[in-house]
Amino acid sequence: MKWEENVRKVVPYTAGEQPRHRGVIKLNTNESPYPPAPGVERAIAALDAEQMRLYPAFPEQTELAAALAEYYGIGKDQIFIGVGSDDVLSQAFLTFFNSDRPVLFPDVTYSFYDVWADLYRIPYRKQPLDAAFRIRGEDYMPQKSGIACGGIIFPNPNAPTGVLLSPDEVEEIVAANPDVVVIVDEAYIDFGGTSCLPLTRRYDNLLVVQTFSKSRAMAGMRIGYAMGNPKLIGYLNDVKYSVNSYTMNYAALRLGAESVKDAAYFRACCGKIVETRERAKETLRKLGFTFPDSYANFIFASHRSVPAKEIFERLKENDIYVRHWDKERIDNYLRITIGTEEQMEALYAALEKICG
Ligand SMILES: *Cc1c(COP(=O)(O)O)cnc(C)c1O
Repeated sequence: MKWEENVRKVVPYTAGEQPRHRGVIKLNTNESPYPPAPGVERAIAALDAEQMRLYPAFPEQTELAAALAEYYGIGKDQIFIGVGSDDVLSQAFLTFFNSDRPVLFPDVTYSFYDVWADLYRIPYRKQPLDAAFRIRGEDYMPQKSGIACGGIIFPNPNAPTGVLLSPDEVEEIVAANPDVVVIVDEAYIDFGGTSCLPLTRRYDNLLVVQTFSKSRAMAGMRIGYAMGNPKLIGYLNDVKYSVNSYTMNYAALRLGAESVKDAAYFRACCGKIVETRERAKETLRKLGFTFPDSYANFIFASHRSVPAKEIFERLKENDIYVRHWDKERIDNYLRITIGTEEQMEALYAALEKICG
């Protein structure tokens, strides 16, 4: 059909499966195995249908922005809130990556980045991780790499590897790129890493992005946010208000605020997941797996003799879902989300049968 020549064609991002039947052990999309803060459930019961007659408030004027500002010790004008960090990141790509020079990101990373770059026609270049799946800082410093770029983005810890850079390592990259925006996607920072948020005070080209989907157990509510200096946030808002003014619904704004107010519960859940992860490292090692050291709520593991694809299929037959990609460099790895202790025990028992 002739009209197809005029269509914007994209190869969309493929998310992990969302099986809904009972009894599934779902370790494939890095959701939290624990419920959201108790205050969230109480707030659901108290939602006011009458409020839904009205358009929602502008995110920056809401109690959610106020709660985040207080939690992080920054101004409300330093926070941009969106429909999950996928929305925030997509708006950030559109806003900040507007150069003829390539945007840089790792070859093994969150597979949404090249989708947005293609969608918005942003040139990009993938910089290979080293053999240990580490980001090589010098690959992102024009003085060392010889590559003049149009922007930089990477997750920290990286996904799906779990490998963490220290704030000093990130700072070197940000400091070497004063002419472009550097986005650090901190979707997994609450599981033992140190956030680069303090660096935004000294570097006006740094945007830090976080989400309620993993550590705050609210993937289904769709809340994400970016933090940076007011000028960066202002540019993000200009683009957002040019696409859709009312992205955040009343319920998400209300419930998100309740989550942030319960810092003790949040820390306890993250702590439990980190403990389970550290035990998982020991057990997986004993079962014959190798993996880069993970600072996220997942482990990216490869077995010394059984191919990842085979383990993936056999686990699925047992109703245990993990993630596998048929992609160069990582096709012999499984990304295993950290579940409850009980879920992990079921996983180890199944792995024992498959790999033992
Ligand atoms: C899960 C994830 C996100 C986005 O999740 P949302 O649910 O849209 O907040 C962003 N970046 C990385 C690296 C992720 O793994």
